[in-house]
Amino acid sequence: MTQHAKVVIVGSGPAGLTAAIYSARANLAPIVIEGEPSSTSDQPGGQLMLTTEIENFPGFIDGIMGPELMMNFRSQAQRFGTTYRTAKASRVDFTNKPFKIWTNDVDSQEPQYTADSVIISTGARSLMLNLEDETRLIGHGVSTCATCDGFFFRGKDIAVVGGGDSAIEEAIFLTKFANTVTIIHRRKELRASKIMQDRAFANPKIRFHWDAEVVKLHGKEQLEGVTVRDTVTGAESSLEITGLFVAIGHVPNTDIFKGQIEMEETGYIVTKNGTYTNIDGVFACGDVQDHTYRQAITAAGSGCMAAIDVERWLESQHHGS
Ligand code: NAP
Repeated sequence: MTQHAKVVIVGSGPAGLTAAIYSARANLAPIVIEGEPSSTSDQPGGQLMLTTEIENFPGFIDGIMGPELMMNFRSQAQRFGTTYRTAKASRVDFTNKPFKIWTNDVDSQEPQYTADSVIISTGARSLMLNLEDETRLIGHGVSTCATCDGFFFRGKDIAVVGGGDSAIEEAIFLTKFANTVTIIHRRKELRASKIMQDRAFANPKIRFHWDAEVVKLHGKEQLEGVTVRDTVTGAESSLEITGLFVAIGHVPNTDIFKGQIEMEETGYIVTKNGTYTNIDGVFACGDVQDHTYRQAITAAGSGCMAAIDVERWLESQHHGS
């Protein structure tokens, strides 16, 4: 049966759940299509479900575990009347109002939800190396965010995979903490901009492992080292490191919105004047529209903006309560 809502929020990371807290407190009774648990966590909740300790989210003097923080967000939104659907949005139709949304747990021609407004907060995901044990070791030596985790590698020997601007930026940032940072790149030339390359070459803590790919991760509880294969000769060698930062790019989770909404070439949703998209009544917040900052706190901030934008937009449409 199709259920109608004033606002449906698609995605349950810090952006979506902050939008839920604010819109629930504005009496909009939001429905959050929260996604499904991943292979490593028993709850949906976005990228923070894959992290361990978070020390830079304001308000937690001693830090907080990523999954615990997300459960707090979720319970806080529930307290004010948010309803959750534990499923993935599988299809949307933004061509007419009310908007229509289908979920992957029901096989039906009829949409599961119609909505006066929609907030898209489906986030982005880091591209990974797809190695055995990679997912298990995320938060235990393997990371995709130097800003988040660099601090834990004070005085350690670590590595960054990738040759683009992200990899170089992360490597330079990590030299503030680490003893050495080895950039492992599959070619002999970096893709990064010249100025970033020059900075990396001039940094005494940065080393380069050219023509190399990581083929195996070692360590039971924590990363203890990696096997690296020479992409030219095929020869394998091992590198003793306790941290591996994978920086080979990000992709926004926007497949179901393709053709429905304006996106950049890279798939990020275009927002203007806060969280407005090109579709009147559809808003986007968090990493799905931000490839610059990508932090839990910036995602949460833009989730708050989306809820306020929705509330004002609904009032302007005479739907406000
Ligand atoms: P990117 O430019 O696409 O670079 C990805 C890097 O990862 C490339 O060097 C690529 O190798 C490597 N790679 C891809 N798949 C791999 C795999 N499976 N195994 C090993 N290596 C792999 O991505 P990005 O660095 O995230 O940057 C994205 C965009 O944001 C770029 O336009 C970048 O300029 C911009 N950006 C700018 C700044 C800045 O200006 N400060 C900072 C960050 C990002 P190949 O080179 O061999 O393809």
